[in-house]
Amino acid sequence: MRAVRVLQFGGPEVLTLQRGVAVPEPRDNQVLIKVRACGVNPVETYIRSGSYARKPALPYTPGTDVAGVVEGVGEQVTAFKKGDRVFTTGTISGGYADYAVAAADRVFPLSDKLDFKQGAAIGIPYFTAYRALFQKGRAKAGERVLVHGASGGVGIATCQIARACGLKVLGTAGTEEGMSMVLRSGAHQVFNHREANYLDKIKEHTGMEGVDIIVEMLSNINLAADLQLLSCGGRVMVVGCRGPVEINPRDTMSKESSIIGVSLFLATEEERRECASALLDGIEAGWLKPMVGSEYPLEKAAQAHEDIIHSAGARGKMVLVP
Ligand code: NAP
Repeated sequence: MRAVRVLQFGGPEVLTLQRGVAVPEPRDNQVLIKVRACGVNPVETYIRSGSYARKPALPYTPGTDVAGVVEGVGEQVTAFKKGDRVFTTGTISGGYADYAVAAADRVFPLSDKLDFKQGAAIGIPYFTAYRALFQKGRAKAGERVLVHGASGGVGIATCQIARACGLKVLGTAGTEEGMSMVLRSGAHQVFNHREANYLDKIKEHTGMEGVDIIVEMLSNINLAADLQLLSCGGRVMVVGCRGPVEINPRDTMSKESSIIGVSLFLATEEERRECASALLDGIEAGWLKPMVGSEYPLEKAAQAHEDIIHSAGARGKMVLVP
C-alpha cells in the first residue's frame, strides 16, 4: 500500500509518500480500515515540525481522522465487520495511507447520510468543538457564543453544535466564501476578521450585553480583544494558539471573566464517550453535516500542510483523498 511517512521532523517536505508499505494486520481489539478520506488537522503540522510537546517515535505516518470501509477485524472485535462504513477519532498506524488500523473504541459507524470526506471531518474538529462548548465552557441554551475563526474545521463544527443546542451564534471568517459557509452552518450573524473595524461591529451587534462564550481559534492575535467583548461572567475558550500574547489581567476583573484552555488530548474516556453520543445523535438528527473544503491526493500531503497554515481563507475541512 501507499503511506505518507515522516522519517525526520521538519518542514512539509519531510512528508514522503512511500509505496510497497505492508498493510497492517488488525490484532485483538483492532479494526483495519480501507481509507477513503483522512482529515488534515493543524496539529499534524506542529507534530511533524518537531516543535510540539508530544512527539511520536520516528518514522511515523500522520493522521487520526479517517473514514472508510472495514477490511478486517481482530479476534476480540464484535462491533464491526468487513464492509462496514466507519470513521475514526484516532489511528494506530496513521491515516495518511491507503489502509489504517485503529483501536475499536476509536471507531464509529458512519451513517449513510454522510459521505467519506464528511466522515473524515468529524474526529478532532467536532470532538474539540463539543468539549470547548460544554465540557469546559459550560454553555447553556440561550447564551451567546462568538466562534472567533468559524470557517475552518473546528469553527464550522462549533457553529453547528451551538446552533443545534439553542445558543445564539456569532461567527467570523476572513473571506466572503468562508462567511457564507459560517451562515450555512447555523450562525445567526457573521463578521469578517480581516476587516479593520470588525470588532466594533461585533460590539455594536451585542450592545451592552457582550458575548457569554468565545471559542477562540487564534488566541495569540485575539485574546486581549476577546476580553473586551465578553459579558459579565463570560469565558474565552482557548482552542487555537500559535504564539505568545500580551493581555491586561485587569480586564478579567471588571467582569469576572475566565480564560480557559481546551485540550482534546486530555479528555477522559468518559468525556470522549459523552462527545460521541452527542455527535452520533447529531448525525442521525441531521444537524451535524461537515462542510468539506480543499481536497488533496496523498501525493500532495506536503502541499496540504503548507496550505492549512498559510491559508488564504478556510472553506470548511481540509481532507486527503487517497
Ligand atoms: P483550520 O481549518 O485551518 O481553520 C482555521 C480558522 O482560523 C479559520 O476559520 C480561519 O479563518 C481562522 N482565522 C484566521 N485568521 C484569524 C483571525 N485573525 N482571527 C480569528 N480566526 C482566524 O483549523 P481548525 O482545524 O479549525 O483549528 C483551528 C485552531 O484550533 C488551530 O490552531 C488548531 O491547532 C486548534 N485546535 C486545537 C485543539 C485543542 O484541543 N485545543 C483541537 C483542534 C484544533 P479564515 O481562513 O476564513 O481567515
